[in-house]
Amino acid sequence: NQLKKYFPITGGILARKIGEVKAVDDVSFSVHHGETLGLVGESGCGKSTTGRVLLRLLEATDGDILFEGQSITTLSSKQMKKLRKEMQLIFQDPYASLNPRHTVEKILEEPLIVHGIKDKQERKKRIREMLSVVGLDSYHASRYPHQFSGGQRQRIGIARGLMTHPKLIIADEPVSALDVSIQSQVLNLLKDLQHKFDLTYIFIAHDLGVVRHISDRVGVMYLGRLVELTASDALYDEPLHPYTKSLLSSVPIPDPNLPINDDELLTGEMPSPSNPPKGCAFHTRCKECMDMCKTTRPVFKEIKPNHYVACHLYNDEQAHS
Ligand code: SF4
Ligand code: MG
Repeated sequence: NQLKKYFPITGGILARKIGEVKAVDDVSFSVHHGETLGLVGESGCGKSTTGRVLLRLLEATDGDILFEGQSITTLSSKQMKKLRKEMQLIFQDPYASLNPRHTVEKILEEPLIVHGIKDKQERKKRIREMLSVVGLDSYHASRYPHQFSGGQRQRIGIARGLMTHPKLIIADEPVSALDVSIQSQVLNLLKDLQHKFDLTYIFIAHDLGVVRHISDRVGVMYLGRLVELTASDALYDEPLHPYTKSLLSSVPIPDPNLPINDDELLTGEMPSPSNPPKGCAFHTRCKECMDMCKTTRPVFKEIKPNHYVACHLYNDEQAHS
């Protein structure tokens, strides 16, 4: 009853790329320095797993991960510990990931101790600075997680992630647990921090609405595979994969006069990730399913410049017509 943690990750060597991922069908994606890559899909699609595999919090079944041109899959745990300073994960539910018995100061101090900042005064100074950067006050340092609101707790979680001055942040649904009004505050904070600290983000979310304004590119995942990947604008304006179209139809549209296309609303349950359907994994829910979709897995390929799709609707003739 083992879930296939089947996320081979591979590398290609390009100087400005910070990490590169290969899904099971020979597709690799890279994250460019300073960009935000959104990864979207329903729960169980493998997006959180991808994030953890990238940081080697989970080991890849196969493949390779490159960070700034260096393969990290074979690094020892000691070498990896050093590198973790540069790659941090921010969690969906900061409450679950913040020790309730520790003060904010202790929570923020821990990564500094782990990474060898021995001077106590230096640690205190960095904690005060970081609290202010995320919009909290220094008197908050002596408080405990339960004394904060959800949005403030996420600020603490973000502060903790930034304590070691990482380059890459993998944010796993960082606003999903927050009220809508608080979500945009935290998204804006993340954007500001990106500029201030020259951060690269992989931003994981379960709906396309949240990542729209923060992502430069968006990858859509279904059952452990990428089905579409392109620049944000192209994805929202001209989605190609039927699954992406369904996801977009379920995002509330800003203009209520625009009709919702009911044909594209997603129906049916997502199949079990441990036993995905043969052929195109989406065929059990796809309204455009053809015979070949049930037997042959579509290859993830570039249909238009920088627009990658895995779907038989876009065969070669169409791509070149
Ligand atoms: Fe639908 Fe077939 Fe495309 Fe899969 S390959 S998304 S089943 S049309
Ligand atoms: Mg998840």
